[in-house]
Amino acid sequence: MSTLLSRNPKTGAIIREIEKTEVVNLPQMYERAKRAQTLWSKLAVKERAKKMRHLREVLIRKVDAIAQVIHEENGKPTFEALACELLPAIELITFFTGIAHHKLKEKELWMRNPFMRYRQSKISYEPLGTVAVIAPWNYPFFLAFGDIVVAVLTGNAVIFKPSEYTSSVANEIQKLFDESGFPVDLVQTLYGEGDLGAAIIDQKPAKIFFTGSVRTGKAIMKQASQYLIPVTLELGGKDAMIVLPDADLDYASSAALWGGYTNSGQVCASIERLIVHESIAEKFKDLLKEKVAHLSTDTDLGVCTMEKQKDVYEEHLRDAREKGADFYCGGNMSQDRTRMLPTLVSGANIEETKIYNEETFGPVIAMTTFKSVQEAIQKANASPYGLLASVITSNVALGAEIAKEIQVGSVLVNEVVFTAGMPETPWGGMKDSGFGRKHSEMGLYEFVHVKHINKPRFGFVTFKSWWWYPYTEYQGAFFRSWIELYRGGVLEKLSNLPHFLWCLIKFLKNEPRL
Ligand code: NAD
Repeated sequence: MSTLLSRNPKTGAIIREIEKTEVVNLPQMYERAKRAQTLWSKLAVKERAKKMRHLREVLIRKVDAIAQVIHEENGKPTFEALACELLPAIELITFFTGIAHHKLKEKELWMRNPFMRYRQSKISYEPLGTVAVIAPWNYPFFLAFGDIVVAVLTGNAVIFKPSEYTSSVANEIQKLFDESGFPVDLVQTLYGEGDLGAAIIDQKPAKIFFTGSVRTGKAIMKQASQYLIPVTLELGGKDAMIVLPDADLDYASSAALWGGYTNSGQVCASIERLIVHESIAEKFKDLLKEKVAHLSTDTDLGVCTMEKQKDVYEEHLRDAREKGADFYCGGNMSQDRTRMLPTLVSGANIEETKIYNEETFGPVIAMTTFKSVQEAIQKANASPYGLLASVITSNVALGAEIAKEIQVGSVLVNEVVFTAGMPETPWGGMKDSGFGRKHSEMGLYEFVHVKHINKPRFGFVTFKSWWWYPYTEYQGAFFRSWIELYRGGVLEKLSNLPHFLWCLIKFLKNEPRL
């Protein structure tokens, strides 16, 4: 039997051993998921939402215990587990159970063209089937749980592959569904590494919801393309924060402090690039440095979740040093090597460094300056990533104008990172940050198949359609006169109407369809 070790990243102690899922068992698991999903999807959306609200009650009962598991296994402060994972999860259930019934109702489409109104089009939203949720370790509860909740609410079964570094948290998610009375096998957690993730794709899930690195995202998309499995990809980021010269510097430096260092910077949307107007750069640096000195390692800063992250952090620091960067704080691991210390770095060559250009996924802020707003926008956009960006200014209208020019999924004016916790708002990126949207109405529709049905409006066949065979002279004239009806303003349209009607009558009278 092969196992995964769940470890406390601070002490190295083993929290638990979890049996790895054997690849040979995958076909049976998919088969069982399909059986559970077939029955589950027959329940009305309202019934599914009711069950989900019960799950919310169970989650609230267990919230402190789960926060403790997240803290122990991932290393983040308990406060962050509660405020940035569990509360958003409760919010997410509340939002989606509130809108699902209405948003997933069958809808009639309005036919603009009056000549088409003898037929009726309706769309309905059907579950996809069994979907795969493949998740990372940095928000091990919220990111996976959110996808699973929406998948199940929309009538799907879920094959869930958590990160191999956070299997204890994943186990808590599985227990929540089991203890809340969801059908057995509707949600199945599979434990293992990347090769298990790849094997899950070979079983052809109906869709893959992936959150993780760009490298893995590309591998998943390549593999999925063999079977034409649709994917949504929530990938990395190197988010920029622009600080305009009119900004309240106390506010702006506090925003950078939290945006750059929360969850030890192990956040896809953390502030890793700071683009500050040259006139305020010195003052800004001093303020931020001073605030970093007040952060408590006991309560404010978590520990680094895994060794791999420490390596990237140290490599980026080394590269910045070699290129002559100035360090204002941090720049190294804590003495016991459990924490990546919050780092602020700048310098003449900063824009040439890895720490400025590549995702560090650690508590680093690489700062540069700008002279004009256009230069700030150009610098914000000079990144392969496009997840989030922030603009800090006293002129909110100007901030919103700048936001339109930045190539990312979301721009926050006078805020950072936090909209992942607001389920009403879409979450997702562009460029190397991936595509598809989590959360919001758009996120709901990622989990359903949109079925269109077109039928005679009055329940009986009225006449053979005009475009059917045979192709004839009057038929051609009729369609040509139809095109003329789109020309010009109302008067021109009215002047073309008699010819159109004459063609229609001639056509209907003289040339019956086959
Ligand atoms: P990762 O890509 O290493 O792993 C993510 C998941 O994919 C894990 O469960 C892993 O086991 C699995 N996996 C690895 N190889 C696979 C393969 N070939 N086929 C299928 N599955 C495979 O990412 P990570 O280190 O866990 O997470 C950190 C990354 O996630 C960062 O780049 C971060 O920016 C990104 N992230 C993005 C968002 C977002 O919303 N955009 C949120 C959180 C994290």
